Amino acid sequence: MTAINGSNHKEEKIENVIIIGSGPAGFTAGLYAARANLSPLLITGNDYGGQVSITYDIENYPGFPESLSGPELVEKFKAQAEKFGTRVEFDYVNEIVVDRHPFIVRTAGGAEYLTRTIIVSTGARPRYLEVPGEKEFTGKGVSYCATCDGFFFRGKDVLVIGGGDSAAEEALFLTRYASRVRILHRRDKFRASKILQDRVFANEKIEVLWNTVVTEIVGENGAVTGVKTRNTLTQEEGRLSTDGVFVFVGHLPNNELFPGKLEMDEDGHLVTDRKMRTNVPGVFAAGEIQDKVFKQVATSVGQGCAAAMSATRFLEDLEAGHAIDLRVDPREFTAPRVAVLA
Ligand code: NAP
Repeated sequence: MTAINGSNHKEEKIENVIIIGSGPAGFTAGLYAARANLSPLLITGNDYGGQVSITYDIENYPGFPESLSGPELVEKFKAQAEKFGTRVEFDYVNEIVVDRHPFIVRTAGGAEYLTRTIIVSTGARPRYLEVPGEKEFTGKGVSYCATCDGFFFRGKDVLVIGGGDSAAEEALFLTRYASRVRILHRRDKFRASKILQDRVFANEKIEVLWNTVVTEIVGENGAVTGVKTRNTLTQEEGRLSTDGVFVFVGHLPNNELFPGKLEMDEDGHLVTDRKMRTNVPGVFAAGEIQDKVFKQVATSVGQGCAAAMSATRFLEDLEAGHAIDLRVDPREFTAPRVAVLA
C-alpha cells in the first residue's frame, strides 16, 4: 500500500474503511464493503439505527410487503452486515482528520483509528420550531418522536406541527393513543404523499388547521397546556389548549464534524457526486447527510451501496500504486479514478 502522505503511524493498524453512522446507508455500506473483503469498521454514533429506529411501521421498504418496525429493520441490516464481516462499534465519532492520509478518526470513547477511506452516513435530526417555550417544554409535552412518546398521551389531546410525510405518519400513529389529534400546517396543502394524506383525511380523530403556525408553546407546572398561534393569511393570533405538541417540520443534517473539512451546500449537506465522492479523495458520503431530495430508507440504502463500491474502487487504485493528492477534488476527474500525485 502506498500514499501514506504525512503519516507518523506507519507501523500501526490501518483500517480500510470506517463507516460513521448506523442508519440504512451505513449498514448497507458495511454490507458491501464487507463482501469486498475490506473488513469495515462501523461506528454507530449515539442514535443507533438513525431515524428509522424511531419509526413505528415501515411500509415502503421493498421486500417487506407486510411492513415491519424500524427497530426490526435495523436489526436485520446489522445482522446482514455483520454476517459478512462488518465490525460494529457502539461509539461516537467526535473528530475526523482528512488533510492527511491515512485519515484519523477519533471517538468519544477515546479510540483513535487510522483509515484509508471514510464513508460518512451520519444522517439527519429533527428541525426545531424555534419558538419560545419549545426548549423549556421538550420532554414535558413537546416531542419529536410519536413512536417514543405517543404512549404517554393516552386519552389526551395533542397537536402535530408540519405538513410532510413525517407529520402525517406520526399524526396517524398518535391516533392509537390520543383522543384528539390536530395537525397545524402553515399552508393550505400538505406536502405529504397522497396515500398518507388520504389516511389523514379519512381518520375521524384527526382535524387539520390550515394556514396556522405556532408562535409560542405555553405551560404550567412544568407541563404543556397550550400554544399561541398565528394565521398565516389573516395574521390573526389565537390560542389552543392541548396536552402535547409533536413537532415534525423537517430535518437538519448531522454535519458537526465537517465544517472546514468537507464541502457542504448552503443547507449543510455534504456535497457528493454520483459516485458518492466528497471533495476529499477517499472520503465518501451516503444517506441524509448528503441527500436533501429523497430521504427514503430505500434511497439511503442505494447510496450506502454506491459509497461502498466507490470506496472499494478507491482502495484498488491505492493498491495499484496510485498516490493521492488530498488537495485535488476527485469529483473533477473521471480518469484516472484517483488523481495521480505528480
Ligand atoms: P419535510 O418533507 O421537509 O416536511 C416538513 C414540513 O414542515 C413541511 O410541510 C413544511 O411546510 C413544514 N415546516 C417546515 N418548517 C416549518 C416551520 N418553521 N413552521 C411550520 N411548519 C414548517 O420533512 P419530513 O416530513 O420530516 O420528511 C422528510 C423526508 O423524509 C421527506 O423526503 C419525506 O418524504 C421522508 N419521509 C418519508 C416517509 C415515508 O415514506 N413514509 C415518512 C417520513 C418521512 P411546507 O410544506 O410549507 O414547506
